[in-house]
Amino acid sequence: MSSSTFIWPIIGHQSIQMYLQKCIKSGKIFHAYIFAGSEGLGKTTVARLFFQTLACKLFNPTIASFPCNTCKVCQQMQSGSHPDLYWLAPVHSPFLLLDDIQSLRSRLSKRAFFSGITFVGIEKAHLLTPEASSALLKLIEEPVTRLCCIFLTSAYAALPETLRSRTHVIFFHPVSQSLISDSLRDRCSHKQALELAQESFGRPGFALQALATPELRKNLHTLVAHFLKVLHTKKLAARLTMLEALFFRGISTQHTRARFQEICEVWSFVLRDIFFVKLDQKKYLRFPTFVEQYNNFAAQITSRHLLQMMQDTIRITQAMKTNITPQLLLEQFFLQHSFS
Ligand SMILES: [Zn+2]
Repeated sequence: MSSSTFIWPIIGHQSIQMYLQKCIKSGKIFHAYIFAGSEGLGKTTVARLFFQTLACKLFNPTIASFPCNTCKVCQQMQSGSHPDLYWLAPVHSPFLLLDDIQSLRSRLSKRAFFSGITFVGIEKAHLLTPEASSALLKLIEEPVTRLCCIFLTSAYAALPETLRSRTHVIFFHPVSQSLISDSLRDRCSHKQALELAQESFGRPGFALQALATPELRKNLHTLVAHFLKVLHTKKLAARLTMLEALFFRGISTQHTRARFQEICEVWSFVLRDIFFVKLDQKKYLRFPTFVEQYNNFAAQITSRHLLQMMQDTIRITQAMKTNITPQLLLEQFFLQHSFS
């Protein structure tokens, strides 16, 4: 085994980094991996670095630190223009269809151009249709070229069993708040780093995105404020009107559903925050900016009622996967619960 060192600017996931670097050092690369875990944990960043490092090491076997970030291969891997790199993601449809696999099929029928390995990343692999998944498995298991394929997913359980059982699975877990805030300290104020780390809830990708796009955080805070306001409004009709104002008009059903799920997730976190305020455990809050309002609500509601509301948001999130009018589910929630 060589004594190569690795320079991977990744926040957290130490054991995963060490494991993948060991694979690279020993040359024991699996033909297919699944990277599973919530959005924003850093799965894509790790996959891209893994591919880049492998390609750089194959191109420059004698240098000491990988990836060098300066060679032609590194530059092409970073820009996505490397001829042996292929990323697949749902673009024209909410699903990854058999048609999407066809271009990959023709690409994999040729040998790798430069690296000796063809790198394939499949984003949102849980959106593969059963036909596309079978076609992909066949391609991977009967390759013309040496292949390293990474399936990325935030819904591991939704992947077909055939895929799960024939790939090497790596689970990504939330990263500690202190690691996230430390990594942000040279990019923003100490206070902002702490807040972003807390709001990211273990997802470094979210913290970095929120830092680069303040609008993202602002929108999230608007949803929190709105939820608290609706809960506090006495008249039922006014509450339902406020609820209606949350949703965009004239967008596709798929986007509407995604919006409902985002709203439901925020509600769950707000209720969880209020519960922790009741327990006097403020360090666990996802949205510490709202602590004053939380204090106010925590004084008005019993733990039992709060738990019931939390259970209902989980039930709604589950029901949204099959219900054709998710707005009805949210309205029902407000008909049952209020803080006023
Ligand atoms: Zn390089």
